[in-house]
Amino acid sequence: MKLQNEINKRRTFGIISHPDAGKTTLTEKLLLFGGAIQEAGAVKSNKAKKGATSDFMEIERQRGISVATSVLAFEYKDIKINILDTPGHKDFAEDTFRTLTAVDSVIVVIDVAKGVEEQTEKLVEVCRMRNIPIIVFINKLDREGKDAFDLLDEIEQKLHLKVTPLSYPIGMGYDFKGIYNIWEQNINLFTGDPRKDIEETIEVTDINNPELDDLIGSDAANTLRDELELVQGVYPDFDQEAYKAAKLQPVFFGSALNNFGVRELLDCFIDIAPTPLPKESETRIVSPEEDNFTGFVFKIHANMDPKHRDRLAFVKIVSGIFKRNVPYLHVRQNKKLRFSSPNAFFAEKKEIVENSFPGDIVGLHDTGNFKIGDTLTEGELLNYKGIPSFSPEHFRYINNADPMKSKQLEKGIDQLMDEGVAQLFRLNLNNRKIIGTVGALQYEVIQYRLEHEYGAKCTYENINVHKACWVEPEDEKNEEFADFKRVKSKFLATDKRGQLVFLADSPFSLQMTQQKYPSIKFHFTSEF
Ligand code: GDP
Repeated sequence: MKLQNEINKRRTFGIISHPDAGKTTLTEKLLLFGGAIQEAGAVKSNKAKKGATSDFMEIERQRGISVATSVLAFEYKDIKINILDTPGHKDFAEDTFRTLTAVDSVIVVIDVAKGVEEQTEKLVEVCRMRNIPIIVFINKLDREGKDAFDLLDEIEQKLHLKVTPLSYPIGMGYDFKGIYNIWEQNINLFTGDPRKDIEETIEVTDINNPELDDLIGSDAANTLRDELELVQGVYPDFDQEAYKAAKLQPVFFGSALNNFGVRELLDCFIDIAPTPLPKESETRIVSPEEDNFTGFVFKIHANMDPKHRDRLAFVKIVSGIFKRNVPYLHVRQNKKLRFSSPNAFFAEKKEIVENSFPGDIVGLHDTGNFKIGDTLTEGELLNYKGIPSFSPEHFRYINNADPMKSKQLEKGIDQLMDEGVAQLFRLNLNNRKIIGTVGALQYEVIQYRLEHEYGAKCTYENINVHKACWVEPEDEKNEEFADFKRVKSKFLATDKRGQLVFLADSPFSLQMTQQKYPSIKFHFTSEF
């Protein structure tokens, strides 16, 4: 019973957005509601400052902040809310993709003036692939922006979502008067005073009531009536099952900076958002109510304290209760490990905890045992699926610049790859190491961290690779595959898991190869 109660009171989600849409501001306001922080400005943005990409101190600062904000937990109305942080910078998109394997739902923040932006599209696509329930928050209504209907259209078209507004703005920008809350059937008038943390709402069960005219003026009232009628005509009624099945996405409007519309969002969120969900493993689906603990590593972070260069592995608890000092099976290594000081995360702090429940994240101190995707259980040989590597977009040879430190370099590269900073490929022809990354920034991070954490030096050398594709032959032994391996031997490499990878040097050669070897599948993610 206790386990079930704990599951019912948990909501674990991520906030995603294009940088600058207001993710940090919204996170902060949510924490304010939970009483988890006392003042605005307490949550640090984890975004890389513009133009600071070659400033190594900046990279370290970023990493420090991102440890602190990796998981922000708070309680609101007896619900334990875990927000998993997702970096907005596109060079760290893979980090975000991996974090999305550990959330049960997401809130997407969209800037009312800019509409759907590039990062939003990419991230929502990942959510769609995984059927993650989405709530949309349209932010910055205190500024002039796009017409609400146009924006809803844009969201449907660019993000391929099916939306239904659960709140609706009255005016916008200079003329912004407030929000009609379709979900609660009330009106919240905008005063533009960000210090107010709980807004007063006015009950409006019947929008035809003339009192509405007194409240917001006849013009605005009539416009609202017309628009709400249109909303009703055009958009489907909200249906919680459809939302949970990722087939319908409710939309809220507001202004995070002014703490306006945030309370409505949060109240609806705790009502409708899913509690921790079952998860698929290679052998079976595991449900959170199961007595035996299971969990998986979705993120690894090097310690920021130079005196303790251990790492923190972030484990999402899928089922059962995770207990301090109990030995658990590290399935990949087939060995038992016990954790004497598992960290739980609160607003800005971490603390040692005795018990954690499904939906929670624990941070485990690790001296090099964990890789992203590793599973922990009470003994069952079970592996969670679903943390793929994506085909990187940048490729360089990595060379050792200090022959006396080759061991350190090996170890450093090995551990950084386990953390998921980048991917290592070895060219089959000559065993040379190639580092593939999602963004160019990672090369500097790797070089800097190798030097400062492992005492190793590296240089890079350009290599002309357009895409890395994971190769899946229909039949390992057939003629076609043998021919492929012979003809393309110069372009074949092996990834860290020993999977065969084809390094295409151009879109054209990729296309030609695909045509020439129809029985071979070329995948752009490592899991297929
Ligand atoms: P993030 O990159 O998505 O985390 O965005 P931030 O939360 O850092 O916000 C980016 C900028 O937009 C900051 O200058 C915020 O003060 C501003 N901002 C956030 N929400 C609002 C809002 O509701 N109205 C206005 N006018 N500005 C906002």
